[in-house]
Amino acid sequence: NALPSSTDLKMEAQNLNVYHVEVLQSPCSTVRRIQIKEKVLDLLYAKKSAFGDLMIQEFEDPFLAQNVQYVALYDIDLPGIEKKVIDLCTASLFVHIFQLNTDGAGTEELDEENLSAASHWLLPSFDFHGLWDTLVYDDVIKSRLLNYASTTLMFSDKAVDSNIISWNKVVLLHGPPGTGKTSLCKALAQKLSIRFSDRYTHGQLVEINSHSLFSKWFSESGKLVMKMFQKIQELMDDPHALVCVLIDEVESLTAARKSSMNGVEPSDAIRVVNALLTQLDQIKKYPNVLILTTSNITGAIDLAFVDRADIKQYIGPPSVRAIYTIYLSCIKELMKCGIISPTQPLMDIRGLEATRFIENGATYHSLYLYKIASKSLGLSGRSLRKLPFLAHALYLQGSPVALESYFEAMSQTVDRQF
Ligand code: ADP
Repeated sequence: NALPSSTDLKMEAQNLNVYHVEVLQSPCSTVRRIQIKEKVLDLLYAKKSAFGDLMIQEFEDPFLAQNVQYVALYDIDLPGIEKKVIDLCTASLFVHIFQLNTDGAGTEELDEENLSAASHWLLPSFDFHGLWDTLVYDDVIKSRLLNYASTTLMFSDKAVDSNIISWNKVVLLHGPPGTGKTSLCKALAQKLSIRFSDRYTHGQLVEINSHSLFSKWFSESGKLVMKMFQKIQELMDDPHALVCVLIDEVESLTAARKSSMNGVEPSDAIRVVNALLTQLDQIKKYPNVLILTTSNITGAIDLAFVDRADIKQYIGPPSVRAIYTIYLSCIKELMKCGIISPTQPLMDIRGLEATRFIENGATYHSLYLYKIASKSLGLSGRSLRKLPFLAHALYLQGSPVALESYFEAMSQTVDRQF
């Protein structure tokens, strides 16, 4: 059930000439999307060609300057494939225009003690803006996941008969803790709400906090689960809404069920889990729903509804290549904020690979960072993102700090982590 290999995608990337363009409309802009789309296409055709990671934030055209914050072109980053130049005139460009919701998360209360049973966001949300890009994986996990989820939604939307062709509305990401599974689910929901903005006017993300559901065993819980699903039902009844339901650490449902069967927990536990599973089975029949789940258990999860998940993806700790990219983004942020100064040029991983790692004046700093990345292998994404902070807290003082001193401190911090 794993997603296809990178070789498949390499072939696809070489053969397909399809690119997505995401356009962030200014918060106060009220012009119609079609007007923006035309202007953006004019802009891209006039450019004729660009690298796949094109990002335009400044516009000569006054209409675009007033209504658009950025235009971003998305390409697939694959090991061994150098950045290629895209011929914008012959490529098929899908333009997605979106605006961000700034409301933040709302919570659904479970009981009088204000234990929250679920958090709820209107998508695309400001809270998850840019999250997708900060998550770095070696292979093609992100684009594959996005393609699978898109196909799922498209098949459901077109009402393909599931007796003839079967597919499933459940995505399961599993792997060790701290590898970005929860973040990836949220980022995926956000991405889908942007990529499907032609079809759905907005997205809804409901995150069910399974822990808080089971932290209390009282006979009421079954009813409260029902109440929560009634709210989800209301969201789904709007055919213009794309509803993503996220259940973190689904294994806690299995655990609750097992302990209940062994007579450890009162039978209320099993009632709550069963109510939840029945409801999930019900809602996944709706065309505008996608269920996203994560698990820290890498073995089999004994839960009927994830068992049948089409998209079961193992998410492991990052490779050296991904670690380098994560560190590079951290260093760039520190330079931007003036904590590392003076600013030094560093190569991205594709650029560094192109030099074949030969040391010279231009590659010196990048190679130093690569060395730190190499010895960080095995650390989780969460630890990696914390490391530059720890390095400063443990070994440095004040700012600005020279790049090399910062590298030195990071290197020592990595040793300490192990
Ligand atoms: P999990 O659900 O697997 O325990 P989280 O989604 O809670 O992981 O990840 C915590 C944080 O760790 C993320 O918000 C992100 O900042 C960082 N992180 C984890 N994996 C990666 C990765 N592959 N690339 C970049 N950041 C990562």
